[in-house]
Amino acid sequence: MDHFQLRNGVLHAENVPLLRIADEVGTPVYVYSRATLERHARVFREALSGVENPHIAFAVKANPNLAVLRVLANEGYGADVVSGGELARALAAGMKPEDIVFSGVGKTHSELLRGLEEGIGQFNIESEEEGYELAAIAQRHGRRAACALRVNPDVDARTHEKISTGKRENKFGVPLDRAAEIYTRLSSENGLEMRGVAVHIGSQLSTLEPLETAFEKVGALIAELRANGGNVTHADLGGGLGVPYKTGEHMPSPAEYGAMVARVTKGWNVRLMFEPGRVIAGNAGVLLTRVIRSKRSGNGPPFVVVDAAMNDLARPAMYGAWHDFDAVAPSGDKMTAHIVGPICETGDTFAMDRECDALVAGDLAVFRTAGAYGATMASSYNSRGFVAETLVDGDRYAVVADRIAAAAIMDAERVPEWLD
Ligand SMILES: *Cc1c(COP(=O)(O)O)cnc(C)c1O
Repeated sequence: MDHFQLRNGVLHAENVPLLRIADEVGTPVYVYSRATLERHARVFREALSGVENPHIAFAVKANPNLAVLRVLANEGYGADVVSGGELARALAAGMKPEDIVFSGVGKTHSELLRGLEEGIGQFNIESEEEGYELAAIAQRHGRRAACALRVNPDVDARTHEKISTGKRENKFGVPLDRAAEIYTRLSSENGLEMRGVAVHIGSQLSTLEPLETAFEKVGALIAELRANGGNVTHADLGGGLGVPYKTGEHMPSPAEYGAMVARVTKGWNVRLMFEPGRVIAGNAGVLLTRVIRSKRSGNGPPFVVVDAAMNDLARPAMYGAWHDFDAVAPSGDKMTAHIVGPICETGDTFAMDRECDALVAGDLAVFRTAGAYGATMASSYNSRGFVAETLVDGDRYAVVADRIAAAAIMDAERVPEWLD
């Protein structure tokens, strides 16, 4: 459920008509709903009521906006970060260092050091090599790093190949069949406190079976590690729960996920950790856009050219992803159209042969379910500048990320004098 609904024929975010945001901030612009973020955060937490004291860390990469992170910090969420930049954001947004988990295959020396200095709660080590590097840094600075070993369970998440992370051929984690020996070796490093295992098999998962298979493998590994004398007090089960992008699409609910987790992890005797991203933020945002013009092309459907493009919302171009596309003030009439952006790439296509609300030049529309992996993937391709972001709260809203104009980006560039 989200708070983007029609009222008196006009799409609102909570109590704010989207027409108002378009007028005052311009388009394209992301609009997030605080109430929806809070609702999703609570639903996910409640779904884990069968788990004792779960640790929930929002996957910052899904939506790193500071205001969004603050909403989730206020809900008691920690952060799963994958770069020094995300770590800085989580801290700036008020997340407690001990509630921050640092994942990622390529943490640099300075990122590892920064995490140690900030006193973050857990490093998810993705290779034996990374473990030794972190151990050395920690020892040099008289610290011990709390760590989980991320394992690659070789499970097909049955999602888009670019967001599948738990197959043997993916770059993430250590192979399951080598995890026990690596864990034992890393446990003898003075700089490390090996305290558990972590797994994350992919994103936008539409069935629970791959997760269940992966968690069962983690359970067997925990038993093996303990049999070897290993210390295991934590298990991080990652994120990955899918969201419906298409009206009517079925996805496992957080409640079904929580029930499965409670069943599979019974008797593990660890603190469970979670890293949801998309399921919290996805349906809490829309990308608001205006139709520039409609262009006839042969006998086929018209091309409806909107002012948002693949640089603002990359998912359709990157993954062939579907986003529902709705008029802000629908007339009731429908049309079939190709929905495209202005960028000079055929990939800048949001939808082909889409049946949607009838729209003409100047009309406003939204791409729904754009709150996760939306603005965060924006670029300035075609010198279009960076899209603005807003957060609605009841009757009010705030601009939570300024539009960065193409001219401001150009200001960071220099033409060396020897080119004169
Ligand atoms: C991306 C990612 C997540 C979040 O995935 P969602 O599908 O958005 O829930 C969690 N953990 C790690 C390690 C990730 O890379």
